[in-house]
Amino acid sequence: MSERLVEMLSAEDIQARVKELGAEITQAYKDKPLVLVVVLKGSFIFAADLCRHIDLPLRVDFLGVRSYGEGTETSGVVQITQDLSKPIAGEHVLIVEDIVDTGLTIAHLMDLFRTRGPKSVNVCALLHKPARARVSVKVDYLGFTIEDKFVVGYGLDFAERHRNLPYIGIVERD
Ligand code: 5GP
Repeated sequence: MSERLVEMLSAEDIQARVKELGAEITQAYKDKPLVLVVVLKGSFIFAADLCRHIDLPLRVDFLGVRSYGEGTETSGVVQITQDLSKPIAGEHVLIVEDIVDTGLTIAHLMDLFRTRGPKSVNVCALLHKPARARVSVKVDYLGFTIEDKFVVGYGLDFAERHRNLPYIGIVERD
């Protein structure tokens, strides 16, 4: 079986949108200190680019989450594999996600974080697949709405491959 990558969003389009998102976030928080919570692993490239377009006093923390096995379907179970390194009580928190698909991961993280007493919790996602939503979640800062295709690249993997692509693509097999 041969595999082909078809580009869905170019590196240039992604960079331009990430810059706009950074400016939007900078405007919205108006000099307030912010904690970026990067959801690993898929968001690492997006977060690295995004944070360089945010002009605010910023702290970055990482959260390890597992909801997928080796396949492309969510298990519906969200497991925290690595917790934050510091408390978020009294802080403005922005969760940085690569993609909101069923919404289960973000819904779970919102519930979890709210028990920890932050001043606010918002969500920034690069991609959203509304066709697959199983719970409704509010994405406060969104890069692109995409159709229901399994995408890779720019941090996103398929069985740990393709994270290093500078663009977002679809894996096609024939
Ligand atoms: P949700 O909990 O919203 O269903 O899924 C969130 C997580 O599932 C994402 O952070 C991502 O890791 C994974 N995911 C969902 N859709 C895709 C996709 O199209 N491609 C890849 N590579 N991962 C996806």
